This record gives sequence, structure tokens and C-alpha cells, in this order.
Amino acid sequence: MSGFDARIPALRAVYEDLHAHPELSFQEYRTAGVVAAQLKQQGWEVTEGVGGTGVVGVLVNGDGPVVLLRADMDALPVAEETGLPYASTATGVDADGHAVPVMHACGHDMHVTCLLGATGQLADNRESWCGTVVAVFQPAEEIGGAPAMIADGFLDRFPRARVCLGQHVQPAPVGFLGTRPGVIMGASDSLRIRLFGRGGHGSTPELCVDPIVMAAAIIMRLQSIVAREVAPAEAAVVTVGAIHGGVKENVIPDVVELLINIRSMNSRVRENVSKAVERIVRAEAVASGADREPEITPTHALPLTVNDATATGIVLDALTENFGAERVFTLPQAFSGSEDFSTFGTALGVPSVFWHFGGADPLLFEGIAVESILEDGLPAHIPVNHSSRYAPVPEPTIQVGVTALLSAAMAWLRRA
Ligand code: ZN
Ligand code: ZN
Repeated sequence: MSGFDARIPALRAVYEDLHAHPELSFQEYRTAGVVAAQLKQQGWEVTEGVGGTGVVGVLVNGDGPVVLLRADMDALPVAEETGLPYASTATGVDADGHAVPVMHACGHDMHVTCLLGATGQLADNRESWCGTVVAVFQPAEEIGGAPAMIADGFLDRFPRARVCLGQHVQPAPVGFLGTRPGVIMGASDSLRIRLFGRGGHGSTPELCVDPIVMAAAIIMRLQSIVAREVAPAEAAVVTVGAIHGGVKENVIPDVVELLINIRSMNSRVRENVSKAVERIVRAEAVASGADREPEITPTHALPLTVNDATATGIVLDALTENFGAERVFTLPQAFSGSEDFSTFGTALGVPSVFWHFGGADPLLFEGIAVESILEDGLPAHIPVNHSSRYAPVPEPTIQVGVTALLSAAMAWLRRA
């Protein structure tokens, strides 16, 4: 496709603008406005406000397959410490009403920029492809916003894709890409648990049921799930990320709240660990003599991200053709991080493929082979996604991200 080089300065400006103006999940109003304006200018049919702040662009270009390309738009409550000239100083109000700093610490600004680059190229090079592209700019990936778009009639309002494609920037050296058939990202399940005791004076524990001791027993016993109930060859994580209870040393409180996150890499382990958490919480409440059952409330969930084997083979071939075999890797294992991208493929009942692309300055990796990163993980000095110091280098990450989206899409759309 022609005209890409000329487009890069404008894409870089879009990226720096988005990076400087991050917005929290489901609050991506300004970002959605930028996306909609660009898509309209490029000649796409644009629908705004899908599932909250989502934007969907459709470009029909003759008969042919329908391909869905997806980018996520939200940022995180993190105070940016990159020192970049376009670093964020933004603040926002989170879902609990707290004022928080806001930063594009997961690179979703890069995803939006790359998809806008791809949509621009597709619009300007219609002679080189045929079919229909549905460009999805999704809100609130960090808290699982994709189902909001599906619930807002996504399946009936837009052409039904036969394949869904998406990507995530990672702290690997820029220019390298990786994917794998099967599970590529784990599942994440978050729970809010309220434990009910019987409060009273600290000097009369015999008249009380102490929910702090109940919480302590639960927290320790939950750590036995992975150690004693998950097979050695399988993986899971159970994290108690917050505990709220009590205000004074000699008052036994009525209630303690726990916030729990579970990570798993297949649906069987996911189900077993969730059941074990519930079993332990309920049983420890009984063991403590609680009068009232605990409340266990799922707060958000991200599904397993599963790549269709055939479609992943097609994408790997397309990426290899464009970037060279030395830059495209079949990943040896899934990431324990999570995504809601697969919501689209699952809802449509079609294959989906998700891949990772590097965005880190190669100078950070001097003397380190990419193969060793795949084996041993990232060196500790490299800032990772969600860190206050994480930011991809704009170039050539933008070129790589746009080219990857176009290469993969064209595997289905290329004019015969
Ligand atoms: Zn993230
Ligand atoms: Zn992300």
C-alpha cells in the first residue's frame, strides 16, 4: 500500500496527543472524539457511543470477507514518571469517586494510533483489497469493557466479521512480534468478599465473632489452593489485593472486606480455583461461628484469550512475509496477563487472533538475545505495562503496529 511514509508524522502527532490526554475506563470521551473525527476524515462510516464510549468504523469495499480490527482506548490510574515531553499530567475520578492520576501505562494510545494508521491506509488504497473492514475502538479494556459493546447490539448493528484481529504492545524490543495458537492470555476473575462477624469490645472476644481473625485464616488458606489443588504442570494465581476492616485497636469490627483476583490459564483450572475460593471462604466463616454467610460478589472478569489455530497460522505467515522470520516468533507459552479481545470472536462465533508487538527501545536490550527473553523473561530494568515508567518508543513502533494490522487483515482481504 502506498502513502504510508507520508502518514507517519500525523500519526506520531496523534499518538503524542493521546498519550498526553489519557482517560479512565468508560470515560474515553475525548479519545473517542479524536477517533471519530479521524475516521470520518478518512471516509469511514462512523458510529459513536457504542457500549458507552466505543466507536465503530465500517468501510465497505466491494464483495469479500468481513474483517474486524480492534483497538482498546482506556488508560490507568497511574502517575506518569516517564519524563517524556508529552507525558501525562491528567487526573480523573475513578469509579469509587476518588481523584486519581491518569496515564496511558498499558500502551492503548499506541493501539488506537496504529488502528487509525491502518484505517487510513485501507481507505486510501481501496484498489488493493476487497471486502469490508469493521474497525472497533473499544472502551474500558482494563475492566472488561468489550461485553458492553456486545450488549449494545454490536452483533446486529454492524457487518458480521468472519475473523477478528487484535494486538498489544509489549516491552519487547521494537520490531519483534509474537503470537501462538491456542491460549495466548490467561483469564482474570475479580471478587469482592464481605465477611460478617459480630463486633464488640476488644476486652470481650467471647461475646464477639472477630471478622479480622476470620479474614486472616481465609487469606492464609487461600494460598494453599495453588500449592495443593493445582497440578504442578498447570498454573494459577490467587491474590488478596486489599483488606479493609476495623478502625481502632480495642473495637472488634462487624465486617471485613477482601478484594481477590484469580488468574488461570485454562477453563478447568479457572473453574476449580473459583470453586475452591468460595468453598474456603464459606467454610472459614462457619469455622469462626459467623451468624451470617459471607457475601461473594464477582466484580469483573476477563476471559481466556484463545487464538484459532488455522487463523493464527495465516497471521504468522503474513507477519513473517512482512517482517522476516528472524523477527516473528511463535511464543512458547501464554502470558498470565488478561484481555477481553476474545469477547468479539466468541460472540460472533468466529476465529480470532491476537498478537504481541514490541515497543521498547532496542538500546535497553544491548547484549540480550530475544530468545533469552522468551526463555527467562524480561530483565528487571525494563519498564513493563502498567508501570509509571512504561511508554513505547513512538517510532518505529507505530510503523510496526500499522504494518502488522494491515499484513494480517490483507491475508483475508487481498484482491485475488
Ligand atoms: Zn493493561
Ligand atoms: Zn492493555
